[in-house]
Amino acid sequence: TPSLPSDRPWLSHYEAGVPHDFTPSDRTLPQVLERAASQFPDRVALEFLGARTTYRQLLQDALRFASALQSLGVKPGERVAIMLPNCPQFVVAFYGTLLAGAVAVNTSPLYTPSELQHQLQDSSSETLLMLDAFFPRYQEIAGNVGVKRVIVTGIQDALPFPKNILYPIKARKDGTWVNVKAEGTVHGYKALLGRQAPRPQLVAIRPQDLALLQYTGGTTGVPKGAMLTHRNLVANSEQSRVWMSDLKEGQEITLAAIPFFHVYGMTVAMNLSVLTGATIVLVPNARDIPMVLAQIQASRATLFPGVPTLYNAINNHPDTPKFNLTSIRACISGSAPLMLETARRFREITGGANLVEGYGLTETSPVTHVNPIFGEQHEGSIGLPLPGVDAVVMNDQEQPLAPGEVGELWVAGPQVMLGYWQKPEETAKTMREAFGRTWLLTGDMAVMDEDGYFRIVDRKKELIIAGGFNIYPREVEEVLMTHPAVLEAAAVGVPDTYRGESVHAVLVLKPGQQATEADVIAHCRSELSAYKVPRSVEFRTELPKTAVGKILRRQLASEARAARPA
Ligand code: AMP
Repeated sequence: TPSLPSDRPWLSHYEAGVPHDFTPSDRTLPQVLERAASQFPDRVALEFLGARTTYRQLLQDALRFASALQSLGVKPGERVAIMLPNCPQFVVAFYGTLLAGAVAVNTSPLYTPSELQHQLQDSSSETLLMLDAFFPRYQEIAGNVGVKRVIVTGIQDALPFPKNILYPIKARKDGTWVNVKAEGTVHGYKALLGRQAPRPQLVAIRPQDLALLQYTGGTTGVPKGAMLTHRNLVANSEQSRVWMSDLKEGQEITLAAIPFFHVYGMTVAMNLSVLTGATIVLVPNARDIPMVLAQIQASRATLFPGVPTLYNAINNHPDTPKFNLTSIRACISGSAPLMLETARRFREITGGANLVEGYGLTETSPVTHVNPIFGEQHEGSIGLPLPGVDAVVMNDQEQPLAPGEVGELWVAGPQVMLGYWQKPEETAKTMREAFGRTWLLTGDMAVMDEDGYFRIVDRKKELIIAGGFNIYPREVEEVLMTHPAVLEAAAVGVPDTYRGESVHAVLVLKPGQQATEADVIAHCRSELSAYKVPRSVEFRTELPKTAVGKILRRQLASEARAARPA
């Protein structure tokens, strides 16, 4: 077995003033909320379309939700699926589920009935909390899953009188309104909570207990549930907290547009805010750019975690110049590569907000790397490992590589999942015991520079091989994005009789802009070696994306392949 050199050169340097050593606290997530409620009882915890909830009320509501689950017979360890956009009920239900000792199952509001069925079956969720508008999707598959109780809520449940009585519980199906009758196994959220005292039976919860099943693999294969514990999730908020050393407890305002049902939104927008007593401004739909802009301006948000497609959409929206975005101080961009042009322009329109690139994955709760917010940033890199994280680049023989060499990124730290829910073989393929730690094999090709900063070269599986040369789609996309007419770009491999594969570009142009296939190819020729230049270009009005906003390259690749068999 290979051993690591004794001076541990695979560890990053911590010249940015952030310590490597880090021990997570022994708090559980409910204890983090209890602490915020005692330190900042009157601070606004949640702000949603004009409705405000203080930290004291949030804890009371979460306790009521826990009592409600217990009154319905939910036992510790049972799974409670939550299918909601960002709204107060999400935060209440997540913490309430954990207070009852149950396990939350984040469920994407974008799921089709069959995806919903798979996840409910795989997680054997017996309880489901969902938005009324999604109810028809559940009805289609209700007979095939083991759900014993459904709790239905509507946006109006989070609004004050008289807005809260304007609509009965209802759901839209085929353009018509359907009443969701709160009877039998279906319960109305508001009525249910209204009957509860905020005094659930005490359940002993330990940091190592499972808190969340976070499904992943939607872009790479069959969805699997990453098992994340209280310690994993608390540690990752605490690691991020150490990183953002100038965060002011009880004073920040987080614009939460990235969805909580993805672990990135959950940790960086929700749990980190609760940890630091920040006000969370909830935006239910991140695609509604005018709404995002209006909320930033109205709330004077200071923190705005996001994804590259969101920052890019703001950069290019015609309404952006009408809004004042200067309150924003710090932004972490994660989940996909941040193009240099996107970062530069966003800093410009916010008058200098610190937008730094970070990296992570569902299996690591999710953040493992971030560029120093105040220290030296290496553009195009994902930065340094967070405190408590070891990172190493490995070759195919599972031996550590030197700086400058490309291999698979492995990470270890307190935020690494327990494994995949009931999938020991998948877990064994993804995790390794080595050098005295438990490592997660990320499936990403990366390189570390001499200063210890990491750069993601690309997904291991999305490499394009043309005439024997390796092409990483990201490099081509960086160049495509510098074309003045291009709004969004994806580079994928398509079959090519001579080269095996060649590069195909799929583009969305900026509103009112024009470009031809020949223009785009000429632009790439001036920047890239010939074998990397796209052989074909396709124009679309939008690109398919995951719920968090990541471009679905694999879907584009299979569509392009289907359209042009070799
Ligand atoms: P998910 O588990 O859905 O959050 O996806 C995790 C994957 O997103 C990682 O394995 C990377 O391939 C990708 N990813 C996340 N952040 C970045 C980044 N800053 N640059 C490039 N890829 C990223």
